[in-house]
Amino acid sequence: MTKKRVAIIGAGPSGLAQLRAFQSAADKGEEIPEIVCFDKQDNWGGLWNYTWRTGLDENGEPVHCSMYRYLWSNGPKEGLEFADYSFEEHFGKQIASYPPRAVLFDYIEGRVKKAGVRDWIRFNSAVRWVNYNADTGMFTVTVHDHAKDHVYSEDFDHVICASGHFSTPNVPYYEGFESFNGRLVHAHDFRDAREFSGKDILVVGSSYSAEDIGSQCWKYGAKSITSCYRSAPMGFKWPDNWEEKPAMEKVDGNTVYFSDGTTRDVDAIILCTGYKHYFNFLPDDLRLKTANRLASADLYKGVVYVHNPKMFYLGMQDQWFTFNMFDAQAWWVRDAILGKIDLSKVSKDEMMADVKERETREEADDDVKYAIRYQADYIEELVAETDYPSFDIDGACQAFYEWKKHKAEDIMGFRNNRYKSVMTGTMAPVHHTPWKDALDDSMEVYLRN
Ligand SMILES: Cc1cc2nc3c(=O)[nH]c(=O)nc-3n(C[C@H](O)[C@H](O)[C@H](O)COP(=O)(O)OP(=O)(O)OC[C@H]3O[C@@H](n4cnc5c(N)ncnc54)[C@H](O)[C@@H]3O)c2cc1C
Repeated sequence: MTKKRVAIIGAGPSGLAQLRAFQSAADKGEEIPEIVCFDKQDNWGGLWNYTWRTGLDENGEPVHCSMYRYLWSNGPKEGLEFADYSFEEHFGKQIASYPPRAVLFDYIEGRVKKAGVRDWIRFNSAVRWVNYNADTGMFTVTVHDHAKDHVYSEDFDHVICASGHFSTPNVPYYEGFESFNGRLVHAHDFRDAREFSGKDILVVGSSYSAEDIGSQCWKYGAKSITSCYRSAPMGFKWPDNWEEKPAMEKVDGNTVYFSDGTTRDVDAIILCTGYKHYFNFLPDDLRLKTANRLASADLYKGVVYVHNPKMFYLGMQDQWFTFNMFDAQAWWVRDAILGKIDLSKVSKDEMMADVKERETREEADDDVKYAIRYQADYIEELVAETDYPSFDIDGACQAFYEWKKHKAEDIMGFRNNRYKSVMTGTMAPVHHTPWKDALDDSMEVYLRN
């Protein structure tokens, strides 16, 4: 019998979790399918594979990266740690709780280097189209190999879409944008806070990007920060040169008008207005259409595409938990493909009912703690059904609750706190330099004792 073939689209943290899941089964002597992972970038890591580029990459593909030069983890690392590969194992010691981007990239990479799965990935390979043939029960995946400048198609029994959903910017229009006399940029293209040193900036939005990009600009010397919100202010105790305003209404020259009748002159507008789930390589019958929420539409167990259960999606939810949630999903999807979890016994109606139940439960409460617990329960549910190492998820929730408290106390100082690893039980050290003073965030400097 020929081996099953599985295509994974994307070698970011989700796709890499899937590679590691299959490799761990192979390690235990299990028969695994042939795995082919496609990534349009020339390296793994997904959003964590930093580039200074914006717009199009060297192959003419839209740049995937939405991260920026001085990005530090926006939540405690104790909430995202892999259960099968601790920070201590990777760095040979416990490290502080909010690592910069380069440190987290190194950690993500360490696990898959150890697993030896790089050969399963075809880099510089953009998936152009996926087609499902009901007669053969196979997917045809069409790929542009940029290294050879060659387009080809191959057939697979399963497709796992792990292409991320924080890369295609959602860009609103406001009157006067076309004649704004400053820099107007979406968060996706924001790269270096130093560009805004000495400037008056407006960040549009009230979610993580607005909070973090505004904080970055503050740290690197912006003259003033104004942020504006549509529904509710972020409400932190901001520094003196940061003011929150209600919705922007229009722009005239350099003047921004807000819905409370006030105005502000700014040098730059940074649109922190979110991202779209965007899959331009998928036809209607395979394409996930969902809002950015914890209970994604149309995904049984948060991963199986209900309209074609041979197709899976990873990491499509809004994220409190990240790396260990992707792992929980990847191990579960692996077992569904290996037949250890029997999807043929689950009817479409049952799958839809599962989605509905998750949606209803998510909507039952809009409290943040409830949302964190909701996602923790989801991870716990999946982990219990596979051999992914179980871990103290209540402890991880505690780290998140403390993180929320620390942000409310001191938005520019919360990254100076530390938490206990739920994987190793070790307390993180206090970082040697407060976040606001740590202008050099290179890995060498961060890891210095
Ligand atoms: C600004 C920002 C800051 C963040 N900060 C944190 C943080 O501090 N901590 C945290 O845990 N999480 C953070 N996140 C969340 C982030 O979503 C996850 O950490 C993680 O990167 C998601 O992994 P993923 O593999 O699902 O998607 P991605 O990381 O987006 O990876 C998707 C991969 O798919 C590839 N791909 C896409 N389309 C195609 C195609 N057609 N063909 C081939 N390959 C394709 C891309 O090249 C990419 O490598 C942040 C996100 C953003 C945007």
